[in-house]
Amino acid sequence: MKAAAVYGTIRDATMGTSVDERFEVREARPGTGLGLFARRTIKKGEFIIEYTGKKIPTPIADESESRYLFEIDEVWTLDGPVPENIAGYINHDCHPNVEAEIEDGRINIYAQKDILPGEELTIDYDQEYFDEFIRPIGCKCASCEKGLLSPHLKEGK
Ligand SMILES: [Zn+2]
Repeated sequence: MKAAAVYGTIRDATMGTSVDERFEVREARPGTGLGLFARRTIKKGEFIIEYTGKKIPTPIADESESRYLFEIDEVWTLDGPVPENIAGYINHDCHPNVEAEIEDGRINIYAQKDILPGEELTIDYDQEYFDEFIRPIGCKCASCEKGLLSPHLKEGK
């Protein structure tokens, strides 16, 4: 896979350590593996990174065991494992600081709030992922550990 090549500004992404002057991949909190961390202030609304991967039909993705699926629409889904897909390092948080926008069939990730240097970038994986992979073991995200109520745990699901 040549996903890293499409980043444009992120030429040194392939080593999986320092990917952009604004953020880096490093050890996250215990039990959560690697994460993506801000190295400088990232302003609310700022473009951060594109989620890249292999384009596969969504009905096939629905049968896949991959944990790096990101659905573009009901026709196409990206399967973007790390380390090629740096955005795949972004861990889940029920109260995240980045969000994805689908734009012209691409998945672009933007800051949802101001992010300070040293802060981990987090995104809300969708309800489906939450129910399949997170709910059975209990959510270990920083917000849940702090005791904030997860929107995914509301009744009705
Ligand atoms: Zn959580």
